[in-house]
Amino acid sequence: MTNDLSLVWLRRDLRLEDNTAISKACAESRRVVVAFVFDVKILQKLNSKSDRRVDFIYDSIIELDQQLRNLGSRLIVLIGDPAVEIPNLANEMNATAVYFNEDYEPYAKLRDKKVCERLKIDKTESFASKDHVIFAPSEICKSDGNPYKMFTPYKNFWLKKLTSTDYKLYDFDAKKLSLALDIGPPSAMPSLKQLQFQPSTLAFTPKPGRRAALASLKKWSKHLSTYHTTRNFPADASGTSGLSVHLRFGTISIRECIRIAMADPSLGAKVWLSELIWRDFYHMILFRFPHVVNGAFKEDYDNIKWPGKDSDFAAWREGRTGYPIIDAGMRQLNQTGWMHNRLRMITASFLVKDLLIDWKRGESYFAEKLLDFDLAANNGGWQWCASTGCDSQPYFRIFNPVLQSQKFDPDCVFIKKWLPELKSLSAKEIHLLPIARPKPTAVDFKFGKTYPKAIVLHSAQKLRAIQIFKQAIKLVPSI
Ligand SMILES: Cc1cc2nc3c(=O)[nH]c(=O)nc-3n(C[C@H](O)[C@H](O)[C@H](O)COP(=O)(O)OP(=O)(O)OC[C@H]3O[C@@H](n4cnc5c(N)ncnc54)[C@H](O)[C@@H]3O)c2cc1C
Repeated sequence: MTNDLSLVWLRRDLRLEDNTAISKACAESRRVVVAFVFDVKILQKLNSKSDRRVDFIYDSIIELDQQLRNLGSRLIVLIGDPAVEIPNLANEMNATAVYFNEDYEPYAKLRDKKVCERLKIDKTESFASKDHVIFAPSEICKSDGNPYKMFTPYKNFWLKKLTSTDYKLYDFDAKKLSLALDIGPPSAMPSLKQLQFQPSTLAFTPKPGRRAALASLKKWSKHLSTYHTTRNFPADASGTSGLSVHLRFGTISIRECIRIAMADPSLGAKVWLSELIWRDFYHMILFRFPHVVNGAFKEDYDNIKWPGKDSDFAAWREGRTGYPIIDAGMRQLNQTGWMHNRLRMITASFLVKDLLIDWKRGESYFAEKLLDFDLAANNGGWQWCASTGCDSQPYFRIFNPVLQSQKFDPDCVFIKKWLPELKSLSAKEIHLLPIARPKPTAVDFKFGKTYPKAIVLHSAQKLRAIQIFKQAIKLVPSI
């Protein structure tokens, strides 16, 4: 026991259980206080004053506060710049140490460095732990110390290195948390209004908070074994875990997910584990190649002058491109803040390779709308689809949105849910809408009015896209 009183600063790890920082703080201290700071620098950057992610965090920390109160403590919630608030709070409490979990995003790295520098001046110790990933960016690298750029060798090494210690449960001593009720400022939970936000009125799935996260994980463990067969079909609501938001904000731990996957010998569990490894992989890429935040991983592609039109970008955003599978996906995103992975891939590919619009504009739109927005996964996903990333889809392999629609939503169950105006058409007619006018049998359907005609022709745009990529890597001269 080294510390009389320690502070744990929660950020994207909104839970007490299986939380490395809390576990370590409890093991090394007599008393532990837990705090969360609404970071005004992040809040000010959000485009809207009504944001489902702020609601999610807010509702999750209310639950966390209640959990701490049940233990005889409370969550200290502050609003401000953490580089000021955390050292001030540590000073005020006479804490000798601050514990937190590592965050690999560029902004977070800089912020944490500032906090630690201030703490050092104040002679307060700081301890950062790995928690958000199984292997930190520096733990998986080639024999020469360089990072992997291809997913498959990364994954093989990741699997070879994994032992049960890597996904062990980080327990905590609740007694240590119960001795701290009167410590710190006598602050009540701030209201959303104090944060200058209003509750979002949009559909709110999945539910926030630790309890909801655990219920989702439990439910998911019953479907996991068939993941390899269900994961690509957006109409199947149980086809994927729906855990991304909880993983993003840490209401569930990555180790809890890995434990479920490792305990299940099925092929579905193996394939799901592979998706969780993609998550580690993209965190590593972001950390080791921070230039991806502002441009292409393959820098040659930064020179592309994308010729796409603003009006087509608006049609894509609003789900009125005339390609039903694209429009259904975009409406799901706009209305729920979540989009199925298959649709993220098809809509991203369509923006870049059919509408010829810069992938960074799509990346920003997803960042604004996705409840599970995660810089590493979103950037990685976009660069993969745009063929500008490490180990990405080659530029000449372009998704055909009509074939994708026929393959992954054969009966148009998903499309009809989000585009009810197409209900009177047959599945065959819906898939072919971008290339074939439907028979005028449905009285209530007026092609071009009830639903827009396709804004581009895939077969022609695909050739233009390939030409653009070839010019960028100088396979053909630019015109
Ligand atoms: C263009 C694009 C943008 C994306 N943006 C994000 C994002 O901002 N945040 C995000 O969490 N995921 C993102 N993804 C990855 C993936 O689409 C989502 O993680 C997944 O759809 C979430 O649903 P789920 O929890 O049911 O996933 P499941 O299929 O159940 O997968 C389990 C978990 O594995 C992780 N995961 C799965 N696929 C990937 C992947 N390709 N890359 C990294 N992690 C993955 C997620 O944490 C996910 O919750 C993006 C993918 C693309 C193609």
